[in-house]
Amino acid sequence: MSIDPPRAVRDIVRQLERAGFEAWCVGGAVRDALMGVEHLDWDIATSAEPARVRRIFRNTVPIGIEFGTVGVLDGSGVMHEVTTFRRDVETDGRHARVAFGVSLEEDLARRDFTINAIAYSPTRDAVFDPFDGQGDIARRMLRTVGNPDERMAEDRLRALRALRFAARFAFTIDPPTWTAVGRSSEHLARLSAERIRQEIEKTMDQVATPSSAFLLWRECGAFARVLPALAGASDVELSFADCLAPPRAGGPPARRVNRITAIMLGAGPGSTRRTLRELRFSNSIVSWIDGQVEKWSAESAGLEAALAAGRLPAPAFARRWIARVGRPRTGALLRVCFSVWGARRAAGREAPPPELCFPLYGRLLRSAFRDAIERADLSIDGEDLLALGIGPGPVIGRVLDALVDRVIDDPLANSRQGLLRIAAQEFNGDAGRLDRGGGVQ
Ligand code: ATP
Ligand code: MG
Repeated sequence: MSIDPPRAVRDIVRQLERAGFEAWCVGGAVRDALMGVEHLDWDIATSAEPARVRRIFRNTVPIGIEFGTVGVLDGSGVMHEVTTFRRDVETDGRHARVAFGVSLEEDLARRDFTINAIAYSPTRDAVFDPFDGQGDIARRMLRTVGNPDERMAEDRLRALRALRFAARFAFTIDPPTWTAVGRSSEHLARLSAERIRQEIEKTMDQVATPSSAFLLWRECGAFARVLPALAGASDVELSFADCLAPPRAGGPPARRVNRITAIMLGAGPGSTRRTLRELRFSNSIVSWIDGQVEKWSAESAGLEAALAAGRLPAPAFARRWIARVGRPRTGALLRVCFSVWGARRAAGREAPPPELCFPLYGRLLRSAFRDAIERADLSIDGEDLLALGIGPGPVIGRVLDALVDRVIDDPLANSRQGLLRIAAQEFNGDAGRLDRGGGVQ
């Protein structure tokens, strides 16, 4: 397998060597190249200390000086991470203090898994692989560098990383490593919420079928410790995020959010909010996902029932469904529904057929953006009602809602003249009926 770092990375390595230092490509990019997978971030490890690295290159950014990492900007302004060979001198399962002045082999020895501890020299086209990472790639095996229990105790995140790498590459976890992962699970609560959240996000971004990672989370006890809301999730529920197609627009973050939504469906709305807050997701993400879970709980069964006849639902049903879900939530919620249905079908359960999904998506999204489904879409507003003698006060909102209701059933009713006539005939002077909670009819 050829390892072919980009030109800028080769240049940085060459410059460090010319200055008299060792420099190697390391980490995920080397691993992925050996597996024939593209990887954009090529990390460089060097014997030069950070201050020297900053003097050798014109444009640098001190991105993690205390850990030895300097960002080197290439001619196109792209940043490459150059990290000084280091070893951990002190670890407490969360943080590490590092020391420089060590060899490449020591630097590789502090890395988590053998497949992540392979170095490549582009100037000599040579691989340095003291822990047989290439052998483990060939065996499709995830194994810690060194004693698994000790390595997990140094940094508890490694247990979760093991599950992600195993799922991402469909590797088996070497039995001693797996045993250590299980023993580590009871210490996972020591990890910061941010690191756990990032692990979940990376899993959603990187693993083709996230359930292959999360089944392991459940099995080793990680859910019970850090995500109790999912500890009782069934296999099918954990696979709800597996069938989420990447969105046409929006890229991986949008899919990530939809995947997190899908996996939280079984937990239900309130529990989702609590869980995501504890994991320190941003307030806007928490509200969005919790709202999606709530809408799914309230609206997905109705949609399924409407599809049971094997055809698309009637336009008026579609408009009413969108009005309840809300225009901005419709597309994402449909994607989540499709993924859930895909997971159910894969498990041999009942779900609407896939051939309905694509046309359903098209019809509902077209409707969401064309049809009048909320107050702001009406051809008249509160001022017009006041002019008719309706209101002021909350009755205005109720009349507008009643008009929305009318327009959802009959889009042609949404003309200024038509709505003014309905309002005058049905609500003027009789607004008290609505105040008392009466309906439109
Ligand atoms: P990804 O594709 O997820 O970025 P990666 O292997 O590049 O995979 P990073 O988290 O970017 O992973 O870390 C880069 C390298 O640093 C890893 O390949 C590994 O050698 C080392 N590393 C990262 N995190 C740890 C850790 N917690 N313990 C030990 N080594 C680690
Ligand atoms: Mg990386």
